[in-house]
Amino acid sequence: MKLFLFIYFLFSSAPTFSKEIAFSFDDAPGWNTHHFSADERADVLIKKLKALEIPSVAIFSNPCNGKDRESTLRQLEKFKQYGHMIANHTCSHPRLDDVGFERFSENIAEADRFLQKLLPSQKFFRFPYLNEGRDEEVRDQVRNWLGKNGYRNGMVSIDNDDYIVSAKINEAKRLGKNIDYKGVEKIFLSHLLGAVEFYDDLAVKRLGRSPKHVLLLHEVDATVLYLDSLVNNLRANGWKIISIEEAYKDPIYLRQPKNTYANNGIISQLVMEKTNERLGYFDFDRLKNELNRKLDL
Ligand SMILES: [Zn+2]
Repeated sequence: MKLFLFIYFLFSSAPTFSKEIAFSFDDAPGWNTHHFSADERADVLIKKLKALEIPSVAIFSNPCNGKDRESTLRQLEKFKQYGHMIANHTCSHPRLDDVGFERFSENIAEADRFLQKLLPSQKFFRFPYLNEGRDEEVRDQVRNWLGKNGYRNGMVSIDNDDYIVSAKINEAKRLGKNIDYKGVEKIFLSHLLGAVEFYDDLAVKRLGRSPKHVLLLHEVDATVLYLDSLVNNLRANGWKIISIEEAYKDPIYLRQPKNTYANNGIISQLVMEKTNERLGYFDFDRLKNELNRKLDL
């Protein structure tokens, strides 16, 4: 029995130590805020990615949401020049369940035309809100459309709520509050690192291995402000940051689960398929309350 256990642990733990992660930033170009203009934020992010020696990240864009066509293309071109991957996140960020297949696919096509010169030969698409449709028929219509138009699903493995931190520091700034940026940074880090550990642990325990992860982030203020500490902490915890192209080589991102439980990422969805459990990193309310306390909101 002891020998059996020893052999079991030897082999069962072997593939679980990869701890590799790639970054993706959604909703670019961002808006002018109380912290950055849209141009400044993109420039700061590009500089930080370079200084931190992060290989290519994915920029999931909504080009219709930019200030104007020229500045949107200029910002996205800059990311591409620095080796990052431009990807499609629809043109104006509709939710599939709200608009249905026809309007949704037209919105993807509009972004495709806008981004034509910036997209790589293997194009990636990410569903806004990770909403792949509650109706299987609609979901399959979109899957077919994506396949026919040369897209792969740019799914994430690690879902989280980074955007709320930015929304809260901007609300605080607007209200003239005195912002404890170091204190907010701690909250941001604990939420993000918690999400990374949660989904990696879930994958190892329920799916039997640690995949090459794709971390969901947004091109927003707090995420850009705190990127250095996030990267340093991940590396200190043994994580290797890999390119987005490398991460998407993991076959987990080619899976097309039957269930429609997609809004917490591929690990949650595959766990649901396997064990019927609806699991995810449900930290939103705690995070929001902690930010409200810290920022006196
Ligand atoms: Zn989005």
